[in-house]
Amino acid sequence: MDELTAEVVVAGAGPTGLMLANELALAGVDVVVLERLAERTGLSKALNLQPRTAEVLDLRGLLGRAERRSFATVGEGHFAMIPVSYAGWDTRHPYQLGIPQAQVEAALEERLAEQGVKVLRGQELKEFTQDEEAVTVTTTTTRIRASYLVGCDGGRSAVRKALNLPFEGIDGRGHGVVADVRFAATPPGAQSEWRSMRDIVTADGIGKYTGLIPLSEPNLYRLAYGDRLNRPANLRAEVTDDEVRDVITKTYGAETKVEEIRWASRFGDDSRLAARYRVGRVLLAGDAAHTHFPAGGQGLNLGVQDAMNLGWKLAATLKGTGHKDLLDTYEQERRPVAEAVVQNVAAQSALIPSTPELLALRKLFRAMSELPQAQHYLSGLISGLSITYPADENAHPATGTRLPDFKTKTGNASDWFHKGKFVLLTTTETETESSHPNIKVAVVDNLPWPDVTRALIRPDGYVANTTGETEPWLT
Ligand SMILES: Cc1cc2nc3c(=O)[nH]c(=O)nc-3n(C[C@H](O)[C@H](O)[C@H](O)COP(=O)(O)OP(=O)(O)OC[C@H]3O[C@@H](n4cnc5c(N)ncnc54)[C@H](O)[C@@H]3O)c2cc1C
Repeated sequence: MDELTAEVVVAGAGPTGLMLANELALAGVDVVVLERLAERTGLSKALNLQPRTAEVLDLRGLLGRAERRSFATVGEGHFAMIPVSYAGWDTRHPYQLGIPQAQVEAALEERLAEQGVKVLRGQELKEFTQDEEAVTVTTTTTRIRASYLVGCDGGRSAVRKALNLPFEGIDGRGHGVVADVRFAATPPGAQSEWRSMRDIVTADGIGKYTGLIPLSEPNLYRLAYGDRLNRPANLRAEVTDDEVRDVITKTYGAETKVEEIRWASRFGDDSRLAARYRVGRVLLAGDAAHTHFPAGGQGLNLGVQDAMNLGWKLAATLKGTGHKDLLDTYEQERRPVAEAVVQNVAAQSALIPSTPELLALRKLFRAMSELPQAQHYLSGLISGLSITYPADENAHPATGTRLPDFKTKTGNASDWFHKGKFVLLTTTETETESSHPNIKVAVVDNLPWPDVTRALIRPDGYVANTTGETEPWLT
């Protein structure tokens, strides 16, 4: 058995694990990434980056890599397949980036390799033990002793199971299927390029929906269909080509010819949330901590943002610059965010009508959703833009909110965050340096809040305070 040591072991090289490993490497943490698969499958569940994830990647200079691999820019998201516009938000990225999950992973892994970290593939975490000083992780061939282990190993997380944590939530009754299908020609009513969420998916029939999203090749589509009331006996049973063809014929007509079904997968609509995100030296992030039906395209985005929240906190804790309770704020901040997503996904399920009365309610909801305030509220939910973290009662209202990116003399405020440090924004021209190594100072003419002249922004782009104090974040 090979023996290794590291500061952090990240189990799982999905989007969450890769983002976290990048954050840790950026902070100079010695990180080992274990991945069960010998090579990437190239298949993609998720297809989109939400606006807040685009902002988060931009904070690290990673957005360009994702953009180069993307195939669409879509000005709307959807809530229960009802289009919602991001236009009312103060963001430079009021759109969904159409990008296959495999390409997000490739972009993150590319940056990780540039930081000198190679994913250890074909290395499945089998078990671990922890004591007061360290965690010992065992894979098929290797034993690693580290200060922390983070389970980013997906919905069936071995790490979460070994911790014996309750994983509870809302029991769904239905199922969904996604399949990448190449047609002989554009199917009737389908868009040929993904520019809008309108006409993408329709709720058709009691409890059922079907839709087509155009992908990066001509006539290649992501077919999605589901039934929220009926679940097959075996959710893991293979989706046959006949089943997919049958749905296509029923929905788009017998004249719609299928050339190829590249892959298909079935999934349930249960929502589950880990009771805790941390047990001693072991933490959970991404799908390992929360799973839900992929309504609104939120799961990957949630995981990448978990990683962005956890990375700097774990690094500061390891390097001795973090406040003693800093690591606990990860669960305090991120678990409620996942809980809110579970709730909005449940609401979206209810809006796939299962009775004529609920169909009437959906129509009413749809009409109301056109109101600008409703558009803003719903798009805030699914984009991640309305996330705020808890703040003291007497704190300035900006505390805990995201810093909206703004133009500076040399570029954008997001550029200051590329190194993953805190940024002290100040209007005092003489205040050019901080005595704290984790804080970069940026002198600005104005801050985004008219009554604020000084604000400490966390490495993940949220306002720590408007006083500049390091408590309770850094020592
Ligand atoms: C059909 C479908 C469509 C979706 N569409 C969207 C969408 O459009 N937008 C969106 O935001 N989200 C979507 N999601 C959700 C999204 O795919 C997940 O939220 C995302 O993959 C979570 O990333 P992760 O890194 O946390 O976990 P995963 O992507 O599951 O990655 C976990 C990694 O850990 C590895 N692993 C597992 N066990 C071990 C072990 N013991 N040791 C080592 N490695 C291990 C796995 O091989 C894998 O590489 C969709 C999900 C589904 C099912």
